[in-house]
Amino acid sequence: MILVERRYMGLDGWVLGIESTAHTFSFGLVDSNGLPRPSVSDTLRPDSGGIHPREAADHHVELGAKLLKDLLDRENLVPNDIAAIAYSQGPGMGPCLRTGAAAARALSTYLSVPLIGVNHCVAHIEIGREQCGCDDPILLYVSGGNTQVIARLDGKYRVLGETLDIGIGNMLDKFARAHGIPFPGGPEVEKMAQKWLDSNPNSSLKELELPYAVHGMDLAFSGLLSAANRLVKDGSPFEAVCWSLQEHAFAACIEVAERALAHTRKDQILLGGGVACNQRLRTMSEIMCRERGASSYCPPKMYCIDNGTMIARLGWLELINGRVTSLEHSAVDQELRTDHTAIIW
Ligand code: AMP
Ligand code: MG
Repeated sequence: MILVERRYMGLDGWVLGIESTAHTFSFGLVDSNGLPRPSVSDTLRPDSGGIHPREAADHHVELGAKLLKDLLDRENLVPNDIAAIAYSQGPGMGPCLRTGAAAARALSTYLSVPLIGVNHCVAHIEIGREQCGCDDPILLYVSGGNTQVIARLDGKYRVLGETLDIGIGNMLDKFARAHGIPFPGGPEVEKMAQKWLDSNPNSSLKELELPYAVHGMDLAFSGLLSAANRLVKDGSPFEAVCWSLQEHAFAACIEVAERALAHTRKDQILLGGGVACNQRLRTMSEIMCRERGASSYCPPKMYCIDNGTMIARLGWLELINGRVTSLEHSAVDQELRTDHTAIIW
C-alpha cells in the first residue's frame, strides 16, 4: 500500500466494492459521502459437499459481468460514475480472492481510477459501525470461515479471541450437511431449533449435554460438532440437538465477548458475519449486554453476510484518508490478519 497526497479528498463519484473471499461474489457501492447502497450478489450453493475454491472461483468468473451490470443499471449509473474500486485483498480462498482482485485491477486500469485493496474482516466492522452508529465496539465476528472477538486498541483492530479450529458457520454447515441439509445449513439449524422451542413451550427446556467450546479467550467447535453428530446417531431428536448445539456454541461466543468487554472496559457489542443473522444469537447478546449496562448492535442481515457494500465502505474510508493500493502491491493475501491493517481514521 502507498500513501498519496490528499487529491482524492473531494471524491467526485461512487466507490465500487468487490467481495470475493469465498462462496459469494458481490458488488456494492457507496456514494461520495460514504453512504451505502445494497449489494448485488450471488452465492455458490453446491448440491452436495462443501465449497471447492476452484469451483467457487469459476462461479465468480461466470457471473461477474452480469452482477456488476445489474448493480449499475439498478442505480442508473454508467462506469464513468465510478471514482474508485475497492476489493477484498484477504483473508479468504486464494482462487476466489484472485478472481475479485483481477476484476478490480482491470476496472481500475480501464477507468483510470484508484484501486484500494481492503481487509475483509475490518470491512465487517466498518459497515457495522456505519449502519448501527456505534463508535468503539467489541466485534463478535461469526461467519462461515471466521470466528473472532475483535477490539480497537492502539490503532489496530486486535483479535482478543478466536476459533482454534473451524469457523462457527462452517460447524453449523457441516452438522447440517451430515444430516442431509444442503449449504448454507445455519438458517435451517435455526429453524429446527425454533421448532423444538415451539413444540416445548411450557416445559423448561433441558439442553442435551455437549462439550463447551471456550478455551481461555479462544473457541473451538470441532469437538462440539462431533458430539452433536453422535447425539443424532444415538437417537436424540434432531430438533433438540439443533437447539442444544446453538445454545452451546452461541453461549461460548457470548462468554468470550463478555470477557472482552470486561477487559477493555468498552460498552458496546457489534455482531457481524453470516451467523449474526441468527435471532437466538442476537437475543443472547442483548441479554448479556443488558445485564452489564452495555449495548448490543447488529446491522441488517444484508450487511451481516459477505457483501460488496462493506468493501466499498472500507475502501471509501481508506481513500479519503489518503490510502490507495498500487498495482505492485495489489496481490491477494489468503492469510491476511485482522490486526495487520493500520486504522488511520
Ligand atoms: P458469511 O461467511 O459471513 O458469508 O456467512 C455465511 C455463514 O453464515 C454460513 O455458514 C451460514 O450457514 C451462516 N448463517 C447464515 N444465516 C444463518 C442463521 N440464520 N443462523 C446461523 N447461521 C447462519
Ligand atoms: Mg465474512
